[in-house]
Amino acid sequence: MSVEDSLNEIKKIVKDNTPATSLITKVDFEGPEVVLYSKNPSVLAMNGEIVKELARIIRKRIIIRPDPSVLMEPERAVAKIKEVVPEEAGITDIKFDTNFGETLIESLKPGLVIGKSGKTLSDIKLAVGWTPKVRRAPPVPSRIVKSIRHTLLKTSDERKEILRKVGRRIHRTPISRGSFWIRVSTLGGFREVGRSSMYLHTPESKVLIDCGVNIAAREGENAFPYLNLPEFSIQDLDAVVVTHAHLDHCGFVPYLYYMGYEGPVYCTPPTRDLMFLLHWDYLDVIEREGKELPYSRMFIKKLLKYIIPLDYGEVTDISPDIRLTLHNAGHILGSSIAHFHIGDGLYNLAYTGDIKFEKSRLFEPANTRFPRLEALIIEGTYGGATDIQPSRREAEQELMRILNDTVSRGGKVLVPAFAVGRAQELMVALDEYMNQGVLSQMPVFLDGMIWEATGIHTTYPEYLNKELRDQIFHKGRNPFLAEVFKRVTGSTMRKEVIDGEPCVIIATSGMLSGGPAIEYLKNLADNPKNSLIFVGYQAEGSLGRRIQKNWKEIPMKDNGKTKVVQINMDIHTIEGLSGHSDRNQLINYVRRLNPRPDRFVVCHGEESKCVELASALYKTFRSETRAPQNLEVFRVK
Ligand SMILES: [Zn+2]
Ligand SMILES: [Zn+2]
Repeated sequence: MSVEDSLNEIKKIVKDNTPATSLITKVDFEGPEVVLYSKNPSVLAMNGEIVKELARIIRKRIIIRPDPSVLMEPERAVAKIKEVVPEEAGITDIKFDTNFGETLIESLKPGLVIGKSGKTLSDIKLAVGWTPKVRRAPPVPSRIVKSIRHTLLKTSDERKEILRKVGRRIHRTPISRGSFWIRVSTLGGFREVGRSSMYLHTPESKVLIDCGVNIAAREGENAFPYLNLPEFSIQDLDAVVVTHAHLDHCGFVPYLYYMGYEGPVYCTPPTRDLMFLLHWDYLDVIEREGKELPYSRMFIKKLLKYIIPLDYGEVTDISPDIRLTLHNAGHILGSSIAHFHIGDGLYNLAYTGDIKFEKSRLFEPANTRFPRLEALIIEGTYGGATDIQPSRREAEQELMRILNDTVSRGGKVLVPAFAVGRAQELMVALDEYMNQGVLSQMPVFLDGMIWEATGIHTTYPEYLNKELRDQIFHKGRNPFLAEVFKRVTGSTMRKEVIDGEPCVIIATSGMLSGGPAIEYLKNLADNPKNSLIFVGYQAEGSLGRRIQKNWKEIPMKDNGKTKVVQINMDIHTIEGLSGHSDRNQLINYVRRLNPRPDRFVVCHGEESKCVELASALYKTFRSETRAPQNLEVFRVK
């Protein structure tokens, strides 16, 4: 049966199962979904059961769109929407996307545009014909969010065509009835941290999961995943899944488009936005170092058009025999565990990406419940036998002690942090301890992309943990907006901070591999009153790791000349603030999995960590366990 045949079959089912008054004018595939265009969409909107039943029969997600002929003219629609939505919602922008029949409403309080159980949304739809899509106007303005929204609207005709093609590919006729196997090729990030990537193939489908870069790699050395394997073909690729926005998981994705890929990338909406930010910065850093770019900026923009955003728990067909669901991974904003339901339920495989199995300042612990699960690919960053971290509470207290001590002796504290994750976690902690009086009042400067990344966090509060959401929504106190946080806006201000009063500086990059943290280090390192605190993972080969290993003289470039920087400042490493699970949390995670799989594959860790975690999982659960190297292929089923 061809795609057209199955579409015709769906059309027939739609016709037989919807009332004639719904006046359906067109049925089509759009990405993983089936779209019905209706001249009277309210009939279906008001009878949710009809659509649910239809979705059950055709086993696909269904979207109802208004037929273009029933859309109210935008100017009138704006007035109508403002009539229907209460003023307190704080609408900041209303736009119209003709290609998708959507009105994009940006508001300070999206909840009030949605209304109780979506009542206001239905009212809008009834009043103007357009389907309302509500988006938050972030309280910390984000240039990235703005630019992404603008680009998505501007390219909506292209995106619609892309989705149509993707839809036809997903719903193509399966070719291999009767044979069933699953293989995974390890392209990068096995027995190492950096350039995570793997290739999942079945008789029907080919999916690339993560495609990262190793930013700590020296030039020309193992920085990118192995995409030149005989089994890997960019033309045959059905989908790319990105678990989260850290560059070791997504830094190489634009390269796929440079290579000619024209298919979808699935990730959560916050991952999309953070990824855009980090890709942009990645190229900026390489360019500043005078090195060759792995791909041009054009491909970062191109990627944006191909992203199909998925919220946690949305089940989606990504190929004829694979369904994908993303679940919370507790690691950074929008980070996910990817669950693959393969071959009509015959086999279920999940890949954790990076996980935190502990409630953090920002997120709920990683999800442990899956409908079915036979095999798990799990990260092992801190899976070594001795990788037991102190509790987050102890770690935070240690941090406050160092901050108080350093500032009271007149020093400054430099905390190199990834723009995404640790920085926001620290902001929430510092705000709380300062309010409680545990931490003395001191200015906290944020430099690098941290501010922008924080803006993206404030765009998606629904991805934060319950306490933080409560604090933001019900108590009206958003820690990210606290006055103590000051944004460093350029080199003049940076110099003022360096020459100024005692303070805390949180700056990128997290492993001192570039970014403004380097400027601070150069200027603060020789004063023993100052402190440097590592709060995140320092990869082998990074400057951060060398300083941790007690290097006291570091040659660094300064205005084109190399000078030796003396490290006299206090060096601290605080464990327990990591966004990764420690060994106990990893093992507990597996223990809590429901259902518990009987096969484990360990990745994302130095060689010894992966091997030790694999052996611990084997001894604890008596399940088949392995820690493959890069360039292996293993059969899952
Ligand atoms: Zn990560
Ligand atoms: Zn990672």
